[in-house]
Amino acid sequence: MSCEPSTKVDKQNNNKIGNDKFEILIVGAGIAGLSFLYNLKQSKFFKEGKINYRIIEKRKEPGLELGYPIHLSSESRKLLEKTLIKKDLIKLKKYQNKIPIYHDGITISNSNKNKQVYKLIREPNKRTMIERKDLLNIFKNSIIEEEKEIEYNKEVIELNQIENNKIEVILKDGERLKVNLLIGADGMFSSIRKLSSNLNGQPKKQKQDLLENLPWTVINFKTSCIQVLKWIKDPYGINTIYGNGFSATLIPLDSNNDNDEEDEIDISRNEVEQQIDEEDLRINYETNQPFSNSNKNEIDHSNELNTSKADTTNTHHELNQPNSVYIALTIPSNWDIKSKHFINSKFLDDLKKSKEWKDKKEFKLYSLKKTFTGKFENIILIGDSSHGTIPFCGSGTGNAILDSIKLIKILKKYFENENENDKKNNLNFLLNEFKKNIKKRNDPIIKESKKILWLIQGSNQFSKLIRFLIFPLLNFKEKLIGDRDKIEKELRNVIENDRQGIH
Ligand SMILES: Cc1cc2nc3c(=O)[nH]c(=O)nc-3n(C[C@H](O)[C@H](O)[C@H](O)COP(=O)(O)OP(=O)(O)OC[C@H]3O[C@@H](n4cnc5c(N)ncnc54)[C@H](O)[C@@H]3O)c2cc1C
Repeated sequence: MSCEPSTKVDKQNNNKIGNDKFEILIVGAGIAGLSFLYNLKQSKFFKEGKINYRIIEKRKEPGLELGYPIHLSSESRKLLEKTLIKKDLIKLKKYQNKIPIYHDGITISNSNKNKQVYKLIREPNKRTMIERKDLLNIFKNSIIEEEKEIEYNKEVIELNQIENNKIEVILKDGERLKVNLLIGADGMFSSIRKLSSNLNGQPKKQKQDLLENLPWTVINFKTSCIQVLKWIKDPYGINTIYGNGFSATLIPLDSNNDNDEEDEIDISRNEVEQQIDEEDLRINYETNQPFSNSNKNEIDHSNELNTSKADTTNTHHELNQPNSVYIALTIPSNWDIKSKHFINSKFLDDLKKSKEWKDKKEFKLYSLKKTFTGKFENIILIGDSSHGTIPFCGSGTGNAILDSIKLIKILKKYFENENENDKKNNLNFLLNEFKKNIKKRNDPIIKESKKILWLIQGSNQFSKLIRFLIFPLLNFKEKLIGDRDKIEKELRNVIENDRQGIH
């Protein structure tokens, strides 16, 4: 057996070494890799002992490279609610409640006067944010014995296609594995993507790595500086501030609410919607819903930014002010942050004066031109490795989860019908179908996402003109068809009830 899990895993799951099992190597213990493993471990075929697996990770030890809270799109929230086992769903709700965001809309402030100019409220009473570490911990702590199962400090350096439709994987430490399925869940700089694009037989157009460096950088940091906190106009929502050629997203945080203890969790207010069957794979819903619909929402939502017309509708600003804030500042990569000639210098000055500014982290934006699927059926890329990372319409996390669940669904289909001589259940055929779907889903997101970047962040005259024309129109449309008063009232009630402890 070439892809041996640890003895402990073996005992626990009855996945014995030496049997003629289907061997899977997962490369990368990020959201995609861990979500895949989480769902794999709950699958019937896994419980029947048909799988051997290993999961390797380049990092030397547990920890995070990409920090800070992430916004969970409506689709990814639904996916998690459908697939998490009950105790993890409870944890999810608890972790989401740690970040005091009460709706999925956005509040825009006028850059010069620090004045709220537009507010969109969507889905009142939906907690849309989660700390990245909390999401990863849900996957890790529940059924993965992290210390024993995730093999840190391991890297793939070479791939070879060998007999019996297997892949030979060579690791940096010299170890060689032979696997039936190689899952590249190793993020936007995926080595599996690079290595597999150089394998013989790869079509020419996929031979080079198509990752492009977009001309923007995101600066991330957290601060409790009072001057910066003053820029938050909606302490219960996502706030955005626009300058000339840059934007900043501000997520209010409540540092009093940073308690990780596994205490009793009141989930009644959030209504655990699903009765979950803990015995079988939890894919009982239609995952074929076009993900692009969600992204359409994201797109519409983003397009409503920068409106010039003031909307001073207020939602309980007199309530709790947050005591810290998470900031994601997107700037042109070639921009000199010290220069003063941009609208909104005051905001940037306040950021730079905060004592936490020195701890900021910078992320350059990258994207693939198109989804990379590769020629070899048994090398599958999931999550950022197949499309690059941000911008991706803010749905990178949701997509990583969706990819992993869909892949499990494919394997489930294969194992349910493995003895039938039906072309449709042939694994290569199924994996190819998976690749086609992933491409169909991701390519439009890559395209839309870049469009939004040019529109929102672009500092040339053309994008300024488009912004000037489009945003007021979108604002008008939202007012015309939107039921703002009703939704404002609903949100106020939720916040008020929460304050009074009424669930
Ligand atoms: C600043 C920032 C903010 C973001 N905000 C949001 C947001 O609000 N909402 C949202 O949905 N998404 C957001 N994203 C995107 C989101 O983080 C990604 O889409 C998501 O993390 C993808 O998960 P993944 O598992 O594919 O990749 P990752 O989370 O990057 O995980 C990849 C893992 O593979 C490991 N690895 C890398 N190379 C190798 C190798 N050669 N061998 C072994 N292991 C390897 C890495 O160490 C890592 O652990 C944000 C991204 C960034 C950078």
